[in-house]
Amino acid sequence: PHRHLIAGNWKMNGVKASLAVAEVIATQSRSHSARVALFPPATLLPLMADILKGTDIILGGQDCHHADSGAYTGDISAAMLKDAGASMVILGHSERRHGHLEPCALVARKVQAALRAGLEPIICIGETLDQRQGGLTIPVLSRQLADSLPEELKGREFQVSYEPVWAIGTGLIASDAQILEAFALIRRYLDQRFGAHVAPHLLYGGSVKATNAGQVLALEGVSGALVGGASLTAEDFMPIIAAAD
Ligand code: 13P
Repeated sequence: PHRHLIAGNWKMNGVKASLAVAEVIATQSRSHSARVALFPPATLLPLMADILKGTDIILGGQDCHHADSGAYTGDISAAMLKDAGASMVILGHSERRHGHLEPCALVARKVQAALRAGLEPIICIGETLDQRQGGLTIPVLSRQLADSLPEELKGREFQVSYEPVWAIGTGLIASDAQILEAFALIRRYLDQRFGAHVAPHLLYGGSVKATNAGQVLALEGVSGALVGGASLTAEDFMPIIAAAD
């Protein structure tokens, strides 16, 4: 049986004092079967890398620039994330797509940059409430897949996370049927484009918490969960990790 990936995206939360949370998660997750990944703010990456040394918890960045280096004030390159101890990076999160107006083509360039640096990308896609209510979910997801996934992904390890925008931070999780429909579309797309021999890693994100994690993770084809709010404390996050056992 495959091991679920339970990934905690801390978003713009966390200062040095929050490293204690990572210590508790590192200790307590040893007795569980899931692969655990933490995506703290970039400022905490080297410190968290020290804390996670000797554990098998994966460390990742929340975003990266599309260029390898240069005059980009305020930005962080994939190589810098790698240097700070990250092995994964989240790209195309809806908070980047909508909050920072990142188009799919830019997400694709960031994925290329991540691969160049040796980071495994988690590429997020998801429709807004307006798009779902307008019957546009399938075309929106199809376009995001086609335009955010560069050719270089062929033969590489990567994850796709389905995160409906209306389910993020709202307490409103997508239904089983909605998740299964999106996953079927994503799997079909990946099979056709990159080959059926590579089992795609598909995550769900959006209001995952202790009370619903078991149900989501039990769905056919769900490889894991990308958790926001409920990854900020060990009290909230550990039951989600345990739900993957
Ligand atoms: P919440 O778990 O807070 O809904 O956030 C989900 C998310 O955006 C994960 O990347």
